[in-house]
Amino acid sequence: MLPADDPHCGWYAGLPEPPPARRIRGRERADWAVLGAGITGLAAARRLAEHLPDARILLVEAQRVGFGASGRNSGFLTEIGHYEKGVGPDERRRRVHVARAGIGALREWVRTHDIACAWSEEGRLHGAAGDAGLRALERFLRQLDDLGEPYEELDAGKLEAITGTSHYRAGARLPGSALVQPAALVRGLAGALPPNVVLFEQSPVHAIRPGGTLRLECEEGSIEAPHLLLATNAFTPALGFLRRRMFPLFVFASLTRVLTGPEQSALGGDREWGLVPEVRVGTTVRRTPDQRILIRNGACYAPGGRLPRRRIEKARAAHRRSLRIRFPDLAHVDLEYTWAGVVAISLNDTSFFGRLAPNVFGAAVYNGVGMAMGAASGMLLADEAIGAESDLLRDVRSLPRPAWLPPPPLLALGVRPALAWMHRRARAEL
Ligand SMILES: Cc1cc2nc3c(=O)[nH]c(=O)nc-3n(C[C@H](O)[C@H](O)[C@H](O)COP(=O)(O)OP(=O)(O)OC[C@H]3O[C@@H](n4cnc5c(N)ncnc54)[C@H](O)[C@@H]3O)c2cc1C
Repeated sequence: MLPADDPHCGWYAGLPEPPPARRIRGRERADWAVLGAGITGLAAARRLAEHLPDARILLVEAQRVGFGASGRNSGFLTEIGHYEKGVGPDERRRRVHVARAGIGALREWVRTHDIACAWSEEGRLHGAAGDAGLRALERFLRQLDDLGEPYEELDAGKLEAITGTSHYRAGARLPGSALVQPAALVRGLAGALPPNVVLFEQSPVHAIRPGGTLRLECEEGSIEAPHLLLATNAFTPALGFLRRRMFPLFVFASLTRVLTGPEQSALGGDREWGLVPEVRVGTTVRRTPDQRILIRNGACYAPGGRLPRRRIEKARAAHRRSLRIRFPDLAHVDLEYTWAGVVAISLNDTSFFGRLAPNVFGAAVYNGVGMAMGAASGMLLADEAIGAESDLLRDVRSLPRPAWLPPPPLLALGVRPALAWMHRRARAEL
């Protein structure tokens, strides 16, 4: 499965037209190749270039930067995951440590390079509307207590004062997360790469030939490099790695048109906020700085990597309903954009980090919450590949690896009913 995202992402549409892509044509040689220019690959290439300022590093992307999942997500940079099951406090602490380093690095890069990506740190809201959500919220707050992490509990009234909706029965605000325009963030990072990183876009790699010098085959050329960092997330199995450790899921998001002045006044609440649901596949909602509403919910298993347009239309209808339930006064407001994006999921809610072959390292599988973890893992992957050592590296290495998955037909038999059950459980949070 090669990346082929749909062209309807509202974040990407909001960016200016990029200059023409530089593509792989003919034979390219490099000291290092980094494959995939999402958040993981961008962080990996930058860090590698800092370690090795004289090396020629190629960063190769199948699409345009910002067009993949890293530019089409909900824009939460999250340090504390709240969906993982069966994760003890020690492991949770190490995960927070790593993700926090990712946010710290991104904050620094955004500041140093003056990247205009609407970065904001007002905190991440949690909201529960139904009984399953309330139970999950209670569990999550207990985990935060165990971790010694701060939060502010919010009752229905306080949530309404911030968001303008009376939909939620209880929630919380956590400091430490950031909100961004994700496509602007990754485009900005690509524009500020160190001079020894050469970015190639619209250059899908079809195959990786192993050897002391690796050969990466593209449509109109090839790359030869002795070292490779793989940052292709859900597409990694198509290149022959981590085949039975992850599976792809499509998830969906929509952005309304910009609200008019009277609509903004009718909505009330703060001018910018972001709220996540307590249960998977429930609804994430944001009010963006340019005064749109983002709705994200739903997930679909399509292992072939192609999603019929009608599946996106179905998601759009669900998003309209989610908007109407929360903001009846905005029921008439159009969803200007609805899109899908691919995330990688493991059976045990954990990521892969490390060596894949003697001269190939990879970081992937963030279970739908990979912006902060991806940035950290990318940086640390470069450290690992050059043999550096640090507490953070020890933390990321010590995390459990993705468990083996059953073979594809059995996997499909398990994933589809599990997703159907999750959607039923999340009904009150949709
Ligand atoms: C709708 C949606 C909402 C989400 N919300 C959030 C959120 O709020 N917060 C959060 O933390 N996470 C969120 N996520 C998940 C997050 O986007 C991902 O976890 C993260 O982007 C993973 O980053 P990555 O760089 O590892 O992978 P990607 O962003 O998928 O990057 C991999 C890149 O590799 C390229 N590539 C793949 N194969 C090849 C090949 N053969 N040759 C060349 N290039 C190749 C792809 O085109 C792609 O650009 C969301 C995802 C979606 C889709």
